[in-house]
Amino acid sequence: MTKKHNTLGGNVIAPESKAEHLDDDHPREACGIFGVYAPGLDVARLAFFALYALQHRGQESTGIATCDGQAAYVHKSMGLVSQVYNENNLAPLKGHMAIGHNRYSTTGSSHIRNAQPYLIETMHGPLGVAHNGNLTNASDLRSQLLERGVGLSTTTDSELITQILAAPATVWSPYCKPNGSGGDCWIDRIQAFMAVSEGAYSLAIITRDAIYAVRDPRGMRPLSIGRLEQGYVIASETCALNTINAHFIRDVAPGEIVRLNEAGITSFEGCPPEKHTLCVFEYIYFSRPDSLLDGQVIHQARQRMGRQLACEAPVDADLVIGVPDSAIPAAIGFSLESGIPYNEGLVKNRYIGRTFIQPDDRLRQQGVSLKFNTLAENLQGKRVVLVDDSIVRGNTSGPLVQLVRGAGAAEVHVRVCSPPIRHPCFMGIDMATYTELIAHRFDVEGIKKQIGADSLHYLSLDGMLDAICQHRSATYCTACFTGVYPISIPDWLFEDNRDKLYFEEVWGI
Ligand code: SF4
Repeated sequence: MTKKHNTLGGNVIAPESKAEHLDDDHPREACGIFGVYAPGLDVARLAFFALYALQHRGQESTGIATCDGQAAYVHKSMGLVSQVYNENNLAPLKGHMAIGHNRYSTTGSSHIRNAQPYLIETMHGPLGVAHNGNLTNASDLRSQLLERGVGLSTTTDSELITQILAAPATVWSPYCKPNGSGGDCWIDRIQAFMAVSEGAYSLAIITRDAIYAVRDPRGMRPLSIGRLEQGYVIASETCALNTINAHFIRDVAPGEIVRLNEAGITSFEGCPPEKHTLCVFEYIYFSRPDSLLDGQVIHQARQRMGRQLACEAPVDADLVIGVPDSAIPAAIGFSLESGIPYNEGLVKNRYIGRTFIQPDDRLRQQGVSLKFNTLAENLQGKRVVLVDDSIVRGNTSGPLVQLVRGAGAAEVHVRVCSPPIRHPCFMGIDMATYTELIAHRFDVEGIKKQIGADSLHYLSLDGMLDAICQHRSATYCTACFTGVYPISIPDWLFEDNRDKLYFEEVWGI
C-alpha cells in the first residue's frame, strides 16, 4: 500500500502550485536570500537593492525583515521587488540588521502565507528565517513537530526550519552534540537543525543580536559573504554584493555557520562537511552571468561550455544565435570556437514578465512568441545554429525552432549546453517528476523530431564539467543528468502521483 505523506517537502508546495511558465522551458530556482548587519546604515534600503539584483532567482513574492536589537519588523507581499516596496513601506523597517527573500514564482502557490522571511517571537526574542533549497526529510520533520504540539500554518519546509530553530537545542538533543557555540544559544539550535535535516539549504537568519548564514553540508545552494564599510552582508549571489557596493570576501563553506554581529564575522562548524555538490545548474542557468561562483565568473564558464559544444557537435552553418539571455555567452563561445559568425536572431521582450494564465500546451506555445521576436533580416536564408542552455520539458524548443524557421532560416540546428535532463530534482528545483522531462520520454533523435530541428546535440557530461571547472578540483550535483543523487531520496518522492496523494490527504481534493 502506498504511504501517504502530508508534504511534498519543498518551497513550492500547495495544491495549486504546479508551475506553468509559458515563457520558457528552464528549471526553476526556489529563492534568493540576503542578510546584512550594518549599524548606521539603512539596512532595509540595502536589502531592497540586493533583492532587486536577485530578482531572477524568484518572482512570486518578496519580503524584508529587520531588527533593531529589541523588536523586529517585516514587510512581505506577492509580486516583484519593484512592485512590492516603496518609501512608505520601507520606512517602518527600522534597525541595524535585515534579511530578505525573493521566492520562486508559480501560478498556484500565489499565497502570502508562503512568502518569506518567516518571523516569529521566541523566548530569546525575534527569529526570522529566509531559506533557499529543499529538505528531503520535510515530511518526517513535519510529523515530529506536529507530535510535539507545534502548530503549522503553511505547507512549506521553510516554516519547519523556523519552528525547529525556535525550540531549545535540547529538544533535538538525541540527534545533536552542540559544538563550540561559545554560549550562543542560536548556534546550538542551528547545529541541532543541521543534525536532523537532510537536503539542500542556504539560510539567512535574523535574531535580536545577530545575522546568521548557514549552508548545508554539501553546499548545494550558493551563499556568499561580503564586506561593507560599516558592516557585513550575505547573499545568494555576488551580483547582489556588487549592487550595494559590498566587497566579496568568500563563500560560506559547506556545513558552516557564519555569525555577523558587533564582533564582526565569526565562523562555527554547523555539521561536518560532506563532499561538496553545488547544483551545477547555477553555472548552466540560475546565476547571473556577472556573478562569481567558486572563484569563476559565470559568463566565462558559459562561454567555455559553448566552445566545448562546438568541439563536440560541429555543424556546417552560416550563423550562430543564442536563446536570450542565459544562452548568449555559450552562443558566443560556440561561434569563437567554430568560426561561424555570431549575431542576434532572437530578441527577448524583457518587460512581458511571465505569462501565467494559459495552462495548456497550445497556449503555452503561443507564449513563446509573446516573449521572443525574431530579427528576420539576420536569419533569412541562413543555416542557423540555435544555442540553448538546457531543455527541460521541451515545450518551448519546438516553438522557438518554428519561430526561427518562420523568419526565413534555411536550417535550424539546435545545440544544448548541458546533457539531457532525464531525472527529477528533489533539492528545490521545480522539475520533480519523471514524466514532465522530455529526455525521460524520448531519446535525442525523438526529441529532435519533437522540436522539429534539422539536428540536435547536447553537451556531454564530461565536456560540461571540464568547461565549468577546468581543473576538475570542484565537484557538483549532476543528479538530474545522471540519476546519482548526492543525498538519499525517500522512495515515495520518485512517485509521479505524489502531488495527488498530497492533495487528497491535506486538501481533500
Ligand atoms: S538534481 Fe540537477 S537541478 Fe537538482 S540540485 Fe542537482 S544539479 Fe541542481
